[in-house]
Amino acid sequence: MYRYKPLSLIHFISNNALWFYEQTRYTMSEICIDSINRPDKKSIKIQLSSNGDASYYLNKHTYTVKYPLLDDISDIPDSIAIIPFVGTLQPVAWATNSQFKVPILDEKLNSNLRKVQMGYDTILPDVNIRDAPSIEVNNIIETRPPNGDVESGLLFSGGVDSTASYLGHFEEKPILIAIKDGRLNELKWNWREQYLNKLAQKHGNKVELIECDHNNWLDYSLLNYRFGHLTNRSFWAAGMYGLAYTALTAPLMYKYGAERLYQAGGFLSDKTFPTNQPFLIEPFSWSGMETKIDGVDQTRQEKISIISNNKVSDTVLIDTCTNDIPLSCCKCEKCFRTILGFIAEGQDPSNYGFDADFNMLDEFQQWVESGRIHLKYNSSVRVWEEIQQRMGTETLPHGYDRDNDFLPWFKKIDFGDFHRERNKMSLKNKIFLSIPSPANLFIYNLLRG
Ligand SMILES: [Zn+2]
Repeated sequence: MYRYKPLSLIHFISNNALWFYEQTRYTMSEICIDSINRPDKKSIKIQLSSNGDASYYLNKHTYTVKYPLLDDISDIPDSIAIIPFVGTLQPVAWATNSQFKVPILDEKLNSNLRKVQMGYDTILPDVNIRDAPSIEVNNIIETRPPNGDVESGLLFSGGVDSTASYLGHFEEKPILIAIKDGRLNELKWNWREQYLNKLAQKHGNKVELIECDHNNWLDYSLLNYRFGHLTNRSFWAAGMYGLAYTALTAPLMYKYGAERLYQAGGFLSDKTFPTNQPFLIEPFSWSGMETKIDGVDQTRQEKISIISNNKVSDTVLIDTCTNDIPLSCCKCEKCFRTILGFIAEGQDPSNYGFDADFNMLDEFQQWVESGRIHLKYNSSVRVWEEIQQRMGTETLPHGYDRDNDFLPWFKKIDFGDFHRERNKMSLKNKIFLSIPSPANLFIYNLLRG
């Protein structure tokens, strides 16, 4: 838009250059939570400031979290109310070698943060987190949690992992916690909320929602430019969401006096893979509360077997699709993988919310033979191989057993052929990394405009 207005362009560059000077004249990069407030009885709001490198990653300086189903959270101490923001900002502060300053924090979490930091050092060894500054807390509080009559909470998305976790802890009647953070569209979110309420009503669980525009708090594309090549996946998936989602539950877990938070994890054969490793997330616990990463010793197929054979609920549906539509598209890799997983257990996938029938096997075959199948991770190859092993040698489940050719064909597929280690780094990303920091950050910011 400045192409035909040279004076405007000069003005634009000079303004940004001034901003760049302001940002870089500080020797230490910093993120500071300046204040914590309660705009109403259901929300917590913080005011932030930042200096240096860290500033580039923060999209805004006011973050708000809302707990719409809790009556009143004004009695929750600030040492706990601040945790939702610590869980998101601390990893960014470590990754960017920034000093993180907070006015107040729970004593137990404060003393556990070094373990979390060393957990990051294990899964992200090339990001150099080990030597980053520790958090600076003005007021460390030994928080006394209230006694509650609910034992546990469970972060619940309705996928295979969290459903198996729900069934595994069914008798505890955990609070089912869902997070609306701007990553799902309204249609998909509304479906999930309705399903959650239906499930909870039938089995006597409490439901709690957490609302925030978490998806806009940070510049995730810049985080990926800067760290994606070191983590081999998005920074969010590699090292952020497990901690961020755990942290967002802190006020409501405190309010209930609940002792344990379950966060379901995928099967972990590689104990250093950058994801929700228990040694990373579990130390992120605060007074009166333990975080538990659940189900990492069970394969995805074992979990599908648990869901298939459960005797306590015939209401569970599986919300696993990666496309932004309610429930399942039945056309993506994850849908196919889950549908075939249920068929391997002798189950009709339509009982778990998949709009699938006999014709789906043809669609699956075409999808594989046309080469549209693409497996990003080795772990997905192993899941497919386990489905091949579990698939009965004689017959398919009722309704899927009319095609005698399918089974021999399926068993012979070499899923390793469809594995691609990673997408190539984009030209933009290569240019970004070839320019020394903070000049690359400045140019990125300038172009983002
Ligand atoms: Zn799908």
